[in-house]
Amino acid sequence: MAAAVNDQALRELCWLVEQSDPRVNPDAIWSGDQAAAYHHLREIGALTLSNEVTDGSLCRECSTEVFRPVANELPDPEFPYHGYCGECGWIALRKEEAHLWRPQPAKIARWLGTALQLTPHYVPEPAVEGVLWRLGEREFRRRRHVLFFGRRIGDALAPVRDALARLAAPGTEVIITTTDVSTLRAPSLADRLFVPLRAIAHLRKGGLVVENLEAYIPVLGKIQHPDETSLRLLRLGQRKALIDGQEIRLSPQVCSFLTILDDHDGDEVHKQHIAEAMGVDGPIDVAQIFKRHRRVFDTFVGSDKKGHFWLKPDFLKIDDA
Ligand SMILES: [Zn+2]
Repeated sequence: MAAAVNDQALRELCWLVEQSDPRVNPDAIWSGDQAAAYHHLREIGALTLSNEVTDGSLCRECSTEVFRPVANELPDPEFPYHGYCGECGWIALRKEEAHLWRPQPAKIARWLGTALQLTPHYVPEPAVEGVLWRLGEREFRRRRHVLFFGRRIGDALAPVRDALARLAAPGTEVIITTTDVSTLRAPSLADRLFVPLRAIAHLRKGGLVVENLEAYIPVLGKIQHPDETSLRLLRLGQRKALIDGQEIRLSPQVCSFLTILDDHDGDEVHKQHIAEAMGVDGPIDVAQIFKRHRRVFDTFVGSDKKGHFWLKPDFLKIDDA
């Protein structure tokens, strides 16, 4: 199959899966200039015939009259339908000339799984039905990443945000998408990495070839968002916190204190337990530990008057489970 047809086919497929009604009327295929691309997509399983018969198809003989295909009373495997044209009479129709065509976005997810060498360890799993698939995990830039494929994400921002929160800690996700990435600047998804499918993939030999994905993945520990406030760097083994995008160096004691709270996933921890975990004999003076890190304490740590401390919910790590 010529590269030009593959390129047209991928372009059409990416466009189709972003439509609110992605079904295609059969006459649009044979009368359009992309017929070869559509037939190729059907051969490789990215487009299938739906079980719905179109309610109006252009007559291919005169290209002016429109009729509604009906089942052929005489069983004919090649032409199971026909339609009556006022000009041309009965026109025999193949199934593909009567049924609506429908793209299969799950096929893109499977192709990506193969192209990214995630199969056979992983099978794409729907994370948001019909919108987001979890493809699997792989190391990029010496760090484990969770890979996704998404389409029509703009119409499902909240479910996508929730699914990502459940499945991938910020900074570990790579979401390959057909959705126009420039429309995904919603605050709820601002800290997620979206990569346009067409920027990294080509259709070749009935599947996808992925190139250059690594170029889109930020270097380990580099600040991805100008306003990020998180303990991401601490979790990467650096003695730093991020507040409003600013890297703040932490003392070993502060690191150890925050790590203990982090390990308790937001549960309250008594300072006596913190002291033991830090290997300190006797009581610890929390105010003293955070003397030079007041802002870090106020940002990340909650406390009560009974000597309990906890990590504020906004800054908890998210398990990949
Ligand atoms: Zn006709």
